[in-house]
Amino acid sequence: MKTLLAQVPVPPVSDVQSGEGGLMGTVVAIVLAVGLLALMVLAIRKVFARRGPPSVTPPARLPGETPLTTIPEKVEPPKVVLPPSELEAQKRAEAEAKRAAAEATKAKLAELEAQKAQAEATQRAAIEAEQQRLKDEAEAAKKEAYRAQKAAEAEEKERHKREREEAARLAKEAEEAAKAEAARLEQERKDAERRKIEAEAGQTLAAGLAKTKREGFMARLNGLFGGAPKAIDEHTLAELEEVLFTADIGVKTASRLVELAREKAKAKELDQPEKLKGVIRAEVQKIVDLKAPHALGGGGPPHVIMVVGVNGAGKTTTIGKLAAKAKAAGKKVLLGAGDTFRAAAAEQLDVWAERAGVDIVKGKEDADPASVVFDAVKKGVTEGYDLVIADTAGRLHTKANLMEELKKVRRVVDKALPGAPHEVLLVLDATNGQNAIAQAKQFQEAVGVTAIALTKLDGTAKGGVIIGICDELKVPVAWAGVGEKVADLRPFEPKEFVQALFD
Ligand code: GDP
Ligand code: GDP
Ligand code: MG
Repeated sequence: MKTLLAQVPVPPVSDVQSGEGGLMGTVVAIVLAVGLLALMVLAIRKVFARRGPPSVTPPARLPGETPLTTIPEKVEPPKVVLPPSELEAQKRAEAEAKRAAAEATKAKLAELEAQKAQAEATQRAAIEAEQQRLKDEAEAAKKEAYRAQKAAEAEEKERHKREREEAARLAKEAEEAAKAEAARLEQERKDAERRKIEAEAGQTLAAGLAKTKREGFMARLNGLFGGAPKAIDEHTLAELEEVLFTADIGVKTASRLVELAREKAKAKELDQPEKLKGVIRAEVQKIVDLKAPHALGGGGPPHVIMVVGVNGAGKTTTIGKLAAKAKAAGKKVLLGAGDTFRAAAAEQLDVWAERAGVDIVKGKEDADPASVVFDAVKKGVTEGYDLVIADTAGRLHTKANLMEELKKVRRVVDKALPGAPHEVLLVLDATNGQNAIAQAKQFQEAVGVTAIALTKLDGTAKGGVIIGICDELKVPVAWAGVGEKVADLRPFEPKEFVQALFD
């Protein structure tokens, strides 16, 4: 209805007043009248509609009246909309234009805003990306720096280690050099001492026997022999007997010599004292002329010498001297400190080993002497020594347990090296005189002495004891001690001995 009405052209007021406008005005009036009529009909219908349901019966139509089928049941009153005035249209157009401009501006602003936001977002993203990149870079640089620092630290540690190792190596080298130098100096000192010991001229046997010759039985014998030429009578024989029986040569030997002189005298062979001297000298020569070992070798190897004798006889000293001689002769020498009863004994032997530049096997104090000697001989065997010299204890020979112990040592030595010892050297102190002979017999019985070293001849007039020992034991005197130096231990030579006494 509204649109219908809107379509009805409404002529402007000014048009109605014109000629053509008169017709138009009539038409408009008719249309308006019809419209009004229609409105009135609608209003009535509305009233009736409120009072009850509409009648089914269509309204009676008047004859000649045209049915109102085109009229809608509900017709809204037409809205009168006058066309805007020119000014208003203009204002509206202006307003519209302004609004459009404002809209456009707003849109433009929005667009700019959007652009700005876009730009800002882009820039922010770029900045953020840059920030991230820088952060990553910084992180990487930090990591790199950490790695580099770690590497530097490791390198430094390695360097410190190398420095320490180098320092230790140098210190060790220096220490070794110092040790080697000290050892060299010590060796030089020892060698010098050994050369000095070796070079020290010892006493001759004659010098060692000087006292025996000057003060001992030889002085008296020589007095007897040196008289004017005359036949040897009973008086002279009695004098000879007296001299010989007090000469430390032993009763047996003295008797033999006197007996021999008597026989010769009876046979009229002794027409002068010189001849008596010759007879005695020849007999002494025969008695002492036993084959004695001086080689310090021949058995083994190693050649094993077991040294026995009473305390103070000179065993340890003699062993030291023998070791020095063997060493000087180029032998590899080992000493066994078998005298374990006195700590000083092992120490004393140690001093000799040191001086002679030879090795030594020592046991603990109070160790079984046999075990020490056993160890020494075993070492001598396994380590290729040429010579092993074993010291032993020398408590009084009258005590049976010493002899038993020496027997045991002997047995054990043989166990360590079958056939050893190759020598049992009895050391006797010449100053003991005839006592030495008694000792010799006991040792001989117990351990089977093979040779004798007679010491301290230099300090005694009892050198004649050699004759008695040789005669009674038939054991050779191998060594004669005539002083404290190495060279003072002389290989005993029967001829030299006889010459020293009789010439
Ligand atoms: P051990 O007990 O048998 O071992 O005897 P030592 O070897 O200890 O010697 C006892 C003492 O005798 C020491 O003072 C030695 O110096 C000394 N001695 C050993 N042999 C000789 C020697 O031939 N002449 C001299 N005058 N003294 C000696
Ligand atoms: P016994 O007393 O005559 O029976 O002699 P042993 O045979 O008991 O030996 C005396 C000592 O020598 C022992 O105490 C050991 O120290 C030593 N000995 C003897 N035989 C051996 C051996 O085969 N090996 C070792 N290491 N030591 C021995
Ligand atoms: Mg000793």
